[in-house]
Amino acid sequence: MPVNVTFWGVRGSIPCCSTEHTIYGGETSCVEINLDGKIVILDAGSGLRSLGLSLVNRKITDITLLISHTHWDHICGFPFFYPAFKKTSNINIHACELPNGQKVKEIFTLLMSGPFFPLPMHMIPSILHFNDFCIPDSFELFNGEAVVQTHALFHPNGATGYRLNYQGKSIAYISDYEHHPDTGIEGLVDFVSNCDLMIFDAMYTPEEYTLFQGWGHSTWQQAVLLTKAAHVKRTALFHHAPIHTDTIMRQIEIEAQKQDERVFAAKVNMTLTV
Ligand SMILES: [Zn+2]
Ligand SMILES: [Zn+2]
Repeated sequence: MPVNVTFWGVRGSIPCCSTEHTIYGGETSCVEINLDGKIVILDAGSGLRSLGLSLVNRKITDITLLISHTHWDHICGFPFFYPAFKKTSNINIHACELPNGQKVKEIFTLLMSGPFFPLPMHMIPSILHFNDFCIPDSFELFNGEAVVQTHALFHPNGATGYRLNYQGKSIAYISDYEHHPDTGIEGLVDFVSNCDLMIFDAMYTPEEYTLFQGWGHSTWQQAVLLTKAAHVKRTALFHHAPIHTDTIMRQIEIEAQKQDERVFAAKVNMTLTV
């Protein structure tokens, strides 16, 4: 049965809107995984707004949302997620508790409160369920039809890596993540081993990384190394830096593909069948 993956937001840090961000896209992290009509969303960045309109048009009311972490670029789309404002929607949100013990429901409630937003969370008419887990918990979706594995990612304030397994197919989502200064991507090899698609935080070029070490993001070169080490079938470079225009992104993609043709740069509105 088909598993389709659609990129609704691929940019890191902040949405970008310019004539130099039209091909790869300026919306922040949001990926739809469609499992024979069952919808799983990875992150609620600004791309979630367009996805929400599409889900309403498709009359989809049951939605599962996996949150990697609560930095702005991964949650800023939620207050503008049209299905949340329809009482027929049933939205299941899964997220790891923050390192300081805060739960994601608290963060979403803060996000949708004054002075940040006019409509408080309790006014949302849809049915919202918040499901907390602790890494490395695994959990089931759709009565066990899909299994989600989790892995801690090195990133300021922490982040969760996900691996979604469904009918022999698997998709790994590794954003946001910085490789280890000594051991590189070694700690992730088992987690993403043999997956059909890996979506990987490749925000920096290797040259830029020397300036931004410790900011919590990795490079396309590390994506290539992990693809080879873990025998990943396809790898999407993701969380593109705002300063990477379409021209720069194309250069990065060509450079990465010279080293491994399984690697490509994610583009907004791109759909892949896994
Ligand atoms: Zn981010
Ligand atoms: Zn982040």
